[in-house]
Amino acid sequence: MTGTDSFGRRIDYLRISVTDRCNLRCIYCMPPEGVPWRDPSEILTFEEIERFAEAAVEEGISKIRLTGGEPLVRLGIVDHVARLREITGIEAIAVTTNGVLLPRYAKDLVAAGLSRVNVSLDTLDADVYRHITRGGRLEDALAGIESAFEAGMDPVKVNAVVVRSLDQDLLSFARMTIDRPLHIRFIEYMPVGGEGEPAPGGVCSSDVTAGAWTIEDHVPSDEIVARLAADGLAAGLGTLEAVARDAAPGGWGPATYYRFPGAVGTIGVISPLSHHFCGECNRLRLTADGKLRTCLFSDDELDAREVLRSGGDVRALIRAALAAKPESHNMRIGTVRRMSQIGG
Ligand code: SAM
Ligand code: SF4
Repeated sequence: MTGTDSFGRRIDYLRISVTDRCNLRCIYCMPPEGVPWRDPSEILTFEEIERFAEAAVEEGISKIRLTGGEPLVRLGIVDHVARLREITGIEAIAVTTNGVLLPRYAKDLVAAGLSRVNVSLDTLDADVYRHITRGGRLEDALAGIESAFEAGMDPVKVNAVVVRSLDQDLLSFARMTIDRPLHIRFIEYMPVGGEGEPAPGGVCSSDVTAGAWTIEDHVPSDEIVARLAADGLAAGLGTLEAVARDAAPGGWGPATYYRFPGAVGTIGVISPLSHHFCGECNRLRLTADGKLRTCLFSDDELDAREVLRSGGDVRALIRAALAAKPESHNMRIGTVRRMSQIGG
């Protein structure tokens, strides 16, 4: 059946990285000097991405998320969204962004047909934010979130990667959900790129400031929830309660949601490692340099750029990707690419 992989999973969600460039240098995502940008000739043009998306729709894709690098640094992104939105069969387009450029683009993005946004923000402490992003300003990210609300984006979600050695104040995020329809999602820190090759079980030798993952820095989602529940109770927010799936904010991914009593927003956790959700995986990824990835953690890539540029059969390539999609990451975690080169 169209859009189904060899394990019967329905694959209807495509994450497209539109650039490998970024205006921040988050310590867990990029080395301090950044990663060498690909030559512009290696990056898919918007026209090539749109042609790919048209073929993908024929093979069952109906939802697209734009990511990067930082998707909003690519000039022409708003018109690109408008053209993607015109493809019959695309039901929704979302963006994952660090938020810095959202005040400039939020209204135009909404007018172009994009309504869903995930803003990546790992701390509400300005000094810690500057440290994590290597120089970013917290006020810029917060202004991005405000501009998303003002532009009428819905849902507005915040993604926070939890890293033990960063000792983030998770409750301060939870407080933001009390009186606003904001959905905070805590994401387990994943071993992607970095110096060392993760050993079986994912253990890697160097540390987060070197841009590489360690098992010590990984905080399992059960621990995140337990910490939030205890801290929330102690702070008088009440008992953290699970949110039923049908009452959770609409999403395309595998978050499990909670909320404090009376809160307008929710708190989600995403556990790619401690409770992997491969059985529910619904996605393919297209990198900025035109490689089609069947799994975040697998470096087996199909060369979509070559097929697009040689006038080949893009639909056949997508079918081959569906056939090759692994059943699970099998803790074969870690990849040679940095997260900024995949798109998360
Ligand atoms: N620049 C945009 C942003 O930051 O939202 C989009 C690209 S970024 C690579 C996508 C997401 O990946 C962000 O939410 C980021 O926090 C997350 N990410 C990067 N490295 C990660 C890692 N090692 N583990 C978990 N999430 C990671
Ligand atoms: Fe840039 Fe996003 Fe990576 Fe941070 S997480 S360096 S904002 S691509």
